[in-house]
Amino acid sequence: MFDLGGKRIWIAGHTGMVGRALARRLEREDCRLVLADRRALDLTRQAEVEAFVAAQRPDAIIVAAARVGGILANDREPVPFLFENLAIATNIFSAAHAANIGRLLYLGSSCIYPRDAAQPIAEAALLTGPLEPTNQWYAVAKIAGVKLAEAYRRQFGRDYIAALPTNLYGPWDNFDPVRAHVLPALIAKADAARAQRSARLHVWGSGRPRREFLHVDDCAEALVLLLRSYSGDLPVNVGSGTDIAIADLARTICDTVGFDGEIVFDTSKPDGMARKLLDGAAMSALSWRPRIGLEDGIRQTYAWFQAQRAGAA
Ligand code: GDP
Repeated sequence: MFDLGGKRIWIAGHTGMVGRALARRLEREDCRLVLADRRALDLTRQAEVEAFVAAQRPDAIIVAAARVGGILANDREPVPFLFENLAIATNIFSAAHAANIGRLLYLGSSCIYPRDAAQPIAEAALLTGPLEPTNQWYAVAKIAGVKLAEAYRRQFGRDYIAALPTNLYGPWDNFDPVRAHVLPALIAKADAARAQRSARLHVWGSGRPRREFLHVDDCAEALVLLLRSYSGDLPVNVGSGTDIAIADLARTICDTVGFDGEIVFDTSKPDGMARKLLDGAAMSALSWRPRIGLEDGIRQTYAWFQAQRAGAA
């Protein structure tokens, strides 16, 4: 058990979607947050990270910082997805160990599993087969991070752990129509199609791949539970337990947004993995359940998107 009471917790990546959800969740606990934004601390610079951790000496670190993006961004920009995520992992782990930080939670991703893994995917499937090529760069870096947690546990007895969240969405997601993940990208595209009275909405790929979505607030709840109570070599899957075909997701989003035109599938764009549903047995054993259903979550996220845009205008 790791008691949060009175502890200082560094959320690396607190300006991202997951980091902000963690900060909101941890504000309800009796702990203090250690935060540094991008201008104050470049996580890809080893000396900066070492100096920051040595000076702050947090009791625990959550690594929610990452270069992230959707299927096309991953495929087109292999270097930052591989290099920056590797640098973030190696810098934070080595600085944490050097400063004698006892607790660390590293965030991986469901995309690190083999392309042809049996569904739902159990943690033991890691490194049992080839990766999905469209996100291999990100996956290799995230696998290294997960393995660093295991390596520090094994060699130095550090209580470092890893969690593997499924596809997350919610407030502060990236809604860029080209760079974003599918759910926020389709919210932005369907909203624009409605506003412009377009006849069509273009959905990438065949619409047949299935994805599992989890609201980021549910994920934050799970991560805090893991930080408090999990110690083990294996990373822990964090998923919602149900998946949906991209075509059905697109319809749900169009209904929410109020776009009633035609959905067309652009098969010149990649499908990526056919299915990516996590086996959630480990989180169930900790009595964690997601609370926010997909339709409610999409409605809430769309409302946030509209409010944010209205605020920015
Ligand atoms: P993935 O889970 O790593 O494959 O990442 P994404 O969230 O980017 O894509 C998931 C699936 O949604 C893939 O099959 C995409 O081809 C499909 N998709 C459909 N429309 C879009 C879109 O507008 N943006 C993105 N990123 N994916 C889309």
